[in-house]
Amino acid sequence: MEASVTVVATIRQWATATPKSTAFVGPTGAELVSYGNLIAAVDNKTQEFALVGITSGDRVLLEMVPNVDHVVILLALWSCGATVVPVRAGETQDAQASLAEALEARFCLRNSKLETRGSGRIHHDRGDVLLVMTSGSTGAPKAVRHTHASVLAGCAMVAEAWDWRSDDELILALPLTHVHGLIIGLIGSLLTGARIRMFQSFDPPQIAQAALTGATMFFGVPTMYHRLVEEGREGALSHLRLCVSGSAPLDPTLAAKLAAAEVSLLERYGMTETLLTLTQSLHEQRRIGWVGEPFAGVEINIDEDGQLLVKTPAASPGFVLPSEMELPVDQHGFFATGDLVEREGKSVRIAGRRSDLIITGGVNVFPAEVEQVLVQFHGISEVAVAGRPSAKWGEEVVAFIVATKPDLDLNDVEDFARQNLRPAARPKRYVIVDEFPRTELGKVRRRDLKG
Ligand code: AMP
Repeated sequence: MEASVTVVATIRQWATATPKSTAFVGPTGAELVSYGNLIAAVDNKTQEFALVGITSGDRVLLEMVPNVDHVVILLALWSCGATVVPVRAGETQDAQASLAEALEARFCLRNSKLETRGSGRIHHDRGDVLLVMTSGSTGAPKAVRHTHASVLAGCAMVAEAWDWRSDDELILALPLTHVHGLIIGLIGSLLTGARIRMFQSFDPPQIAQAALTGATMFFGVPTMYHRLVEEGREGALSHLRLCVSGSAPLDPTLAAKLAAAEVSLLERYGMTETLLTLTQSLHEQRRIGWVGEPFAGVEINIDEDGQLLVKTPAASPGFVLPSEMELPVDQHGFFATGDLVEREGKSVRIAGRRSDLIITGGVNVFPAEVEQVLVQFHGISEVAVAGRPSAKWGEEVVAFIVATKPDLDLNDVEDFARQNLRPAARPKRYVIVDEFPRTELGKVRRRDLKG
């Protein structure tokens, strides 16, 4: 019997009250499955899993393909009391096997086939629903625990702040292996009783089409908005009541282009460990470059170094990898985010990750400060800035550039930097690249920029 506070029980309440309401639509907007049929499929699958012995406390590695079948599998595993480790489809079998080993997973589900890993009974029964792997873009990858309580709290605060209703339809093209797509996008929609138009991958024409044919919201990362603008599709987004950007810094020039196209763009900030903590206001004027204020129920503080500290009911209880530990918090329950910020009144601006800060000739430079200026130069499409060791400066500022034209003259770029950046922030070197190394979610892997 499900306790009333589980994710599936909450979805079931809605499904029981309005079984005919639509849960998922296909790319063109036609219904794929109603809430009533979704829960019936979950119940069938739960019985199937129970028969093969999946039970409370089991960890299950699940290749999370973005389709209804996999949503049914996910919810059925939760109904059995299992903890799901969502992994990317297409990850090598060896990588999955070593992750399963490290996490003591009892089952792996890939290509829709269930594989039992060893017969030993390893019990991890402490109410975890998910172990989410962080990308490791700024350190060793972590397996972050989330529970029914953290997921429900994290989704409830978002629904309230963004006035998320059952008549909304979310365009979901984010990977389902991170909290943004999986918890906030997918589970957030289901807990609200809203519709989901789920895509296998991010394709600007399809997203634009969805925006023009009944969808009401889109959650994306900055690289997605960049591509939509690059392909001239941003106008379609103005038909949506809300477009949300997060998970990585949004370039203010891009935000201004979207604002000019009358896109209702709202920025929010969060982490795998805490889910979402800051948001721009739904109803008030949104200030470009600022990620807004804490969600209701979230408290923030700033330490003496300018680092953001957060306390939230949606926080993870801790990690399983790289080692088993509770979430580190100070004596008042605040978690140190590793992000350096500026605050004006209640509103917060993210300056950058502390680990990305460049100290050159004793002066602090944030990559964003340089990136936001250089990207305005005609002929530059994207910029990523990183510090590199230098005998003279300690670290030197290096700008990696994706150009829009083959004959970009770096002398002109240097002149532009001289006119628009303070001396310490002017790059000592420029490297032209075809594209940046990125995580699955589109974050630039600064450490892997070569040159
Ligand atoms: P992850 O846990 O992989 O989702 O990464 C969380 C990190 O992403 C945060 O600590 C920030 O450095 C960054 N991040 C998330 N949202 C934003 C945002 N709106 N603006 C700037 N950085 C962000």
